[in-house]
Amino acid sequence: MSAGPTAMTVLVLGGTAEARALAAELAGRTGLRVISSLAGRVASPALPAGEVRTGGFGGVAGLAGWARAEGVDAVVDATHPFAETISANAVEACAQAGLPLLRIARPGWDAQEGDDWRDARSVAAAAAMLPALGARVFLTTGRQDLAAFAALDRLWFLIRCVDPPAGPMPARREVLLARGPYHREAERALMRRHGIDVLVTKNSGGCLTAGKLDAARDLGIPVVMVSRPDAPPAPSVPAVGDAVRWVLGRLPGTGRRAPAHNAGA
Ligand code: NAP
Repeated sequence: MSAGPTAMTVLVLGGTAEARALAAELAGRTGLRVISSLAGRVASPALPAGEVRTGGFGGVAGLAGWARAEGVDAVVDATHPFAETISANAVEACAQAGLPLLRIARPGWDAQEGDDWRDARSVAAAAAMLPALGARVFLTTGRQDLAAFAALDRLWFLIRCVDPPAGPMPARREVLLARGPYHREAERALMRRHGIDVLVTKNSGGCLTAGKLDAARDLGIPVVMVSRPDAPPAPSVPAVGDAVRWVLGRLPGTGRRAPAHNAGA
C-alpha cells in the first residue's frame, strides 16, 4: 500500500520482468497505490512488490468494470510481447473507462553477424519448417504452444518451460523445467549435451533469455524465430524508466505529463 492517503491508483498488467521492475520502482511511493495483475498461468510466480491480484478479468468489460470499481486512474500494460489478447483488451477497456494507457514495448531481437535465423510468422509455421532443419530441437516457445509440434514424431525435442506441460506435445522429448535468466555458456553447454541441431524461439526480446541466441551463434545452429504479433495501437515506451516517469508525471500536484511515443498508434 502507499504511504499516506491514495492520490492515484495505477494498474500494472504484468507477468514480465519489466512489470516487476516497474512495481518495485513505484510501490510504497507517497500517494501512489500500485496494483499488479497476473494471469495466474504460473504455479509459483515471481511476485511483484506492492499489491497483486491474480486471474483473468473476464474480457474487455470485466477489465473496464474492475478498473472502475478499484478507482484505477492509469494503466500500464507491461505484459509479454506475445500476450496479444490482454494487450488488445487493455486498449479497449481503457477507451471504455476513459483511462490513460501506456504500453511498455520491449524491443525485439535483431539478427547479428554469424546468426542463421529463419523467420516464422507463427508457431505453426515454425513447426512446419523444422524437419528440413534438424532432428534434435531445443523448443523454448513455452508450454502453451506445444500442440503445434505434437505431430513431428520423427524429431526429438528438448522442451524448456517453467511449469510441467500438459496436453498434446511431441512424443520424443525431454522436458526441462527451468526459469531464466539463462546465460550464454550454460546455454551452449546445454545444447551440446543434448546434441541440439536447431533452436525454436519466439522473438520475445530482452536480455534475460538472449543467451540461447548467443549460444546458437557460437555453435552454428539455425534458429527458427517466431515473429511478434502486431502491437495494439497504444502509446508505448521501450523501457521501464520511461514508464516510471509517465506514472510519476501523472501524480496530482506534479503539474506535468511525461510524453510517450505513439508507436503503433
Ligand atoms: P493472452 O493470451 O494475451 O491473454 C489471455 C487471457 O488471459 C486474457 O484475455 C486475460 O483474461 C488473461 N490475462 C492475460 N494476462 C493477464 C494479466 N496480466 N492479468 C490478468 N489477466 C490476464 O496472455 P498469454 O499470452 O496467455 O500470457 C499470460 C500472461 O503470461 C501475461 O501476463 C504475460 O505477460 C505472461 N507471459 C506470456 C508469455 C507468452 O509467450 N505469451 C511469455 C511470458 C510471460 P480475461 O480476458 O479473462 O481478462
